[in-house]
Amino acid sequence: MTDKSNEQDTKGLTVTKAGDMPEWYTQVCLKAELADYAPIKGCMVIRPLGYALWQAIQDQLNAYIQEDGVTNAYFPLFIPESFFSREAEHAEGFKPEVAWVDNKDDKNGERFAIRPTSETIMYDSYGKWIRSWRDLPLKINQWCNIVRWEVQDVKLFLRSREFLWQEGHCVYETADECHKETLHYLERYRQIAEELLAIPVIMGLKSEREKFAGAIRTYTIESLMPDGKALQMGTSHDLSQGFAKAFDISFQDKDGKSSMPWQNSWGMSTRMIGAIVLTHGDDKGLVLPPRAAPNKVAVVPIIFEKQKTEIIKAAEEVGTLLKEFTPIVDTRDEYTSGWKFNEYELKGIPLRIEVGPKDMEKKQAVVVRRDTGTKEFVPLTKLKQHVAETLEQMHTELYDKAKQRIAADTVEVTDFAGFEKAIEDRKMVHTTHCGDDDCELVIKEKTAATTRCIPFKSGDVKGKKCVHCDKAAQHAIYFARAY
Ligand SMILES: [Zn+2]
Repeated sequence: MTDKSNEQDTKGLTVTKAGDMPEWYTQVCLKAELADYAPIKGCMVIRPLGYALWQAIQDQLNAYIQEDGVTNAYFPLFIPESFFSREAEHAEGFKPEVAWVDNKDDKNGERFAIRPTSETIMYDSYGKWIRSWRDLPLKINQWCNIVRWEVQDVKLFLRSREFLWQEGHCVYETADECHKETLHYLERYRQIAEELLAIPVIMGLKSEREKFAGAIRTYTIESLMPDGKALQMGTSHDLSQGFAKAFDISFQDKDGKSSMPWQNSWGMSTRMIGAIVLTHGDDKGLVLPPRAAPNKVAVVPIIFEKQKTEIIKAAEEVGTLLKEFTPIVDTRDEYTSGWKFNEYELKGIPLRIEVGPKDMEKKQAVVVRRDTGTKEFVPLTKLKQHVAETLEQMHTELYDKAKQRIAADTVEVTDFAGFEKAIEDRKMVHTTHCGDDDCELVIKEKTAATTRCIPFKSGDVKGKKCVHCDKAAQHAIYFARAY
């Protein structure tokens, strides 16, 4: 066997996931080359592998929203300060997060905000564009960067001053249509999380305290990470008519009368990539959910000097056979096969396919699953079908495994002592709450847990009491510490 690479393997992880999850997480992001730190406080660099995952998410969401009649567009990064003051709640909610740019061109010296979200700049245009019921529904999405200036310490993908997202902004004739579609886009996010990324989520309604500033209702998909912290993975807001009023958006209805439209907005960000790492990764590194993996297969020839040419050729043929899975065919001579195995494990490539002299003789290949390490000898004639089936099986098993973990880490409590203990034990809590804003705040101050959502699938709370204050329960709700 050729062994020209005597370099020390400095790339492996030095901590285990269970041992030190925050450090493990950072090492996986850095060493699997998903992201890097930037020379600017609170910012990050998204490297090609991280960006490829983002593109997989973009491709899927673009396909969905095209089906839904939403078109992509782009609005300015800068938002005049006066736009913010038009919707009071919105302005108040985003005040601490905005970075301002001085504007010397304006004679009044009005500053520009760097967008923390784009409702105001987009709805200024909507006010000009919407005239009649024929202009509705108006459904626009933009893919862009966002700045939330208050972030000091970057947590790669999970929390940074600048991140990438999409924001959909739709306008409708009726409240009913608006509400229905607000929920529909949340369902799209569930599909992205569960069906593309194999991450189970809970769908529900945010509490009044946690809802988007300017919305009447915010819907969310939440998942629980293995460290016991919840991650909000996508939100869809029913804005009702608040922004329409503030931005003077009106239309002539079918009876010729002036009417005010109904709006929603919905967003999902590069946080999703952090959720992939946390949910599926293990002590060897990243485990990519197969449907989102940019390269689903890595073909590694087991090179022996005597049959080098033939083995490389056989590996290349396997690569051609598996073209649809965008394989990496690693015929590099300067690295050992062992080094390559580690590399592709660290980077989470779903399947490794080995081709050695014996396999060549037997017209077979060895297929190794990244998540389980299961090894199978597969005849070349059946390889393509086997790979397709194994990738799908892996998706299902990754999803089921995460679902079981989340179920095991979620506890039902009815009293506050139980609540405090569960949160201390890094669990998510399912309980009943009075719905009172102040009560929720006191719970947060005592335990650092916030409400995650009032689940759609919620049982009857009649006769039950709030877990904290003994008032009558309004609803069942999830609490957890969160990212
Ligand atoms: Zn209460």
